[in-house]
Amino acid sequence: PMGVPNTFLERNSVQLEELIGDGLFGIVYRGSYTDRRTHRRMPVAVKVCKDDGETGDLELANKFLLEEAYTMQQFRHPHVIRLMGICTGPHPGKADDSSSDDSRHSPKHPNNNNNNVMHPLAASVWIVMELAPLGELRTYLQRERAIINLEVQLLFAKQIASATAYLHSNGFVHRDIAARNCLVTSPRCLKLSDFGMSKMLAEEEVYTSSSGKLPIKWMAPESLNYRRFTAQSDVYSLGVCIWEILMHGIKPWQGIRNHEVIKKIEAGETLARPPDCPLALYDMLRAMWVIDENFRMTAAEAMHFLEHLLDELLSGKPA
Ligand code: ATP
Repeated sequence: PMGVPNTFLERNSVQLEELIGDGLFGIVYRGSYTDRRTHRRMPVAVKVCKDDGETGDLELANKFLLEEAYTMQQFRHPHVIRLMGICTGPHPGKADDSSSDDSRHSPKHPNNNNNNVMHPLAASVWIVMELAPLGELRTYLQRERAIINLEVQLLFAKQIASATAYLHSNGFVHRDIAARNCLVTSPRCLKLSDFGMSKMLAEEEVYTSSSGKLPIKWMAPESLNYRRFTAQSDVYSLGVCIWEILMHGIKPWQGIRNHEVIKKIEAGETLARPPDCPLALYDMLRAMWVIDENFRMTAAEAMHFLEHLLDELLSGKPA
């Protein structure tokens, strides 16, 4: 059942510092959270609604953010971005929120909290989450190319596979697994984020995008054909995500139009083997891209296989 996250944080315990991300529906700030009791400060990422969002409907945007927070709240996994809490309602210093209309059109710049004024972003729910200091995976892979070897690639792949297996074991499908939704917290640690599209398995499987923007190049054949999103279709996307990791952040099917990609997938074509990708690893990717979802590898199997490849690599045996 849909509910409201139970971890409420006061807005004035959260300081917004710098804009670090701009998504379709939300914008993300780097900031810090100060625990009232312990006075401990910790770095956080804060997601707020875009006030020029697609619909311009702030209430709806807030509802989506709350749903995302509710989903995130249920997860505790070393490779899933952790929700710390949410801020709702007007800034505590303001008695009435009759001025909230102004704040809808307020600038996107963070303001230092001041007890006598409404915070300019207070009309939006804030999702306060663990900060990934090294940012987006794709940029990281491109920037740090020199230190990203097969060992790091296998490690990253294993971590995202384990996050996916964890979601599946809890009855969730992510529906948008892709390198663009992976964040780097340290040189050897990756975390899955962006739960805006994820759903309980029991919920309606047929999905229609509000924006019409579906991640076609990451989608399994049954998602393309019937908009079916399941644990198995997540595995297909996970395979594409691992391919992106092996390609140092290059997106799949570069320069090929969506409808051409759909034709290729229907004809049984798959993404090519990345240079230097061991055959055993490429065989695993192909097992994740099997057309019939019932014969596709599972996320847990992928995780174990990646662990095995990593062990072999570290012990000097050929993969
Ligand atoms: P879209 O719908 O386009 O995928 P979105 O509105 O759901 O985007 P996110 O993808 O969640 O927003 O976040 C936008 C960007 O903000 C990310 O690509 C990333 O650069 C940054 N970001 C998000 N969460 C964090 C975090 N926890 N730590 C560091 N950076 C983050």
